[in-house]
Amino acid sequence: MITLKSISHDYPGGHRIAFKDWQINRGDQWLLLGESGSGKTTLLHILTGILKPSAGEVVINGTSIYGLSSKALDQFRGRNIGIIFQRPHLIKSLSISDNLVLAQSFAGLPTDLDRVNEVLTSLGIADKKKAYPNELSQGQLQRVSIARAVINKPELVIADEPTSSLDDKNATAVLELLLQQSAINQATLVIATHDKRVKDAFTNTYELA
Ligand code: ADP
Ligand code: MG
Repeated sequence: MITLKSISHDYPGGHRIAFKDWQINRGDQWLLLGESGSGKTTLLHILTGILKPSAGEVVINGTSIYGLSSKALDQFRGRNIGIIFQRPHLIKSLSISDNLVLAQSFAGLPTDLDRVNEVLTSLGIADKKKAYPNELSQGQLQRVSIARAVINKPELVIADEPTSSLDDKNATAVLELLLQQSAINQATLVIATHDKRVKDAFTNTYELA
């Protein structure tokens, strides 16, 4: 379970964003809705340990994450949280397979090529294992981003506007894969979007003013 309590963040220039409290239960699938500039990315960064809020607390399974040392927090994130950004962030000089192996290594886990194959197969891109990122389409790259996010079977999968750079067909496919992958791995899923195409697939929504 994750709880966010009394969170607010002050950006330079006196810009403050206050967030309402949020409780996310294991296995929930949430949509985080809000217009551009409403604070979605800020909230996801606070939720995932990337940005320490100016006030308030984030507790994940009993651990107040900003009480951890930065090294402990990095490892906690690598093992427990998978993040999918708006645009794929992959290492261009590494093959798709090696990008996934790197994600295992960042989390302090041994190389597990069977797991790499399993994830790529379930996402329908096993044939791209030896390819490099610049040889893939946007839709395929977003699948690789999902693969990297779920490779270590994290409890929490976070996606920040994962469909905004995709056409309708790829957007639908990416959403279905996110829902399917989080179910397979029994992960909690939070997807931020301003994309109204996405809304119907979800029962839990957290809306930013
Ligand atoms: P969203 O993801 O919903 O578009 P963001 O969380 O990126 O919203 O931004 C929320 C608000 O905080 C915006 O007004 C934005 O300009 C401001 N903001 C975001 N990052 C910074 C920053 N590094 N410095 C100053 N202001 C920022
Ligand atoms: Mg954003």
